[in-house]
Amino acid sequence: PLDREELGKATWSFLHTMASYFPEKPTKAQSEDMSRFFNIFSQFYPCESCADDFRKDVKENPPKTANRNELAKWLCQRHNVVNVKLGKPEFDCSRVHERWRDGWLD
Ligand code: FAD
Repeated sequence: PLDREELGKATWSFLHTMASYFPEKPTKAQSEDMSRFFNIFSQFYPCESCADDFRKDVKENPPKTANRNELAKWLCQRHNVVNVKLGKPEFDCSRVHERWRDGWLD
């Protein structure tokens, strides 16, 4: 059976890592493809109720794919929407690259 928590943790790990390694100066095609990626992702994420809510959120807040920082911040905010829904603490989005790319700097 689908383990929501396990799937969620693994998926966020992949998505945030991908955002933190997105180019700082993407080509127009890379930006457009990344926007498309999230739209497609939101249609096929295998937890259906999660995907339903995520699709609505992404529709209201379309992917920001102009550069790495914008994408990482946008995704962090989307994850925080889910955190709030689940009663989990919000993550400080100014530290998203520390968590997913550079390693904690303290
Ligand atoms: P996770 O939330 O999985 O986070 C993993 C790690 O990411 C954390 O330990 C932390 O270091 C880091 N992190 C936390 N917040 C942020 C952030 N904002 N930005 C960057 N890094 C962060 N579960 C449901 O029960 N209902 C749902 O509707 C639902 N919707 C989901 C939608 C999507 C698109 C995804 C990917 C997952 C969804 N989940 C949902 C799963 C849920 O978000 C968690 O993944 C799951 O509950 C496990 O939580 P966790 O406490 O292990 O940490």
